[in-house]
Amino acid sequence: MQISQRKLDIIKEHAMQVYPEECCGLLAGRYEQSFDGHYENVVYEVAPCRNVLSWDRHMGFEISKTEYCEVESEARSMGYNIIGAYHSHTNADALPSNHDYEHAIPNHTMVILSVRETLVLQVRAFFRPFSEPFQEERIYVKSL
Ligand SMILES: [Zn+2]
Repeated sequence: MQISQRKLDIIKEHAMQVYPEECCGLLAGRYEQSFDGHYENVVYEVAPCRNVLSWDRHMGFEISKTEYCEVESEARSMGYNIIGAYHSHTNADALPSNHDYEHAIPNHTMVILSVRETLVLQVRAFFRPFSEPFQEERIYVKSL
């Protein structure tokens, strides 16, 4: 995936702000061919969302259907699609949980941040191609 440093910073700020709860948000952009010929998700907009899980928000997250649809229609009006989502793991590694594996959407990028003591220690991205298992993908951070 590709993302600008500024948008990556927005995600990290969000994760630190809501600590010790998990943050969540949506990534809007396009699945594009990069300079070396392969296709990957390119993030053009980041939409921080509210974690509406009714309990244990430090252990999981949920984005409301209403907010998802609002972000999706706004993204489409700009010519983008929802290409993935991000969330944080508080006091845990940035690795997909069983729940994350089960809820991975094909062709979407799942960005996971590891936050400990209000600091973001690690950011990793995982991609689930159609009919293939989940795999880690490189995060290419573009300059501002
Ligand atoms: Zn997770």
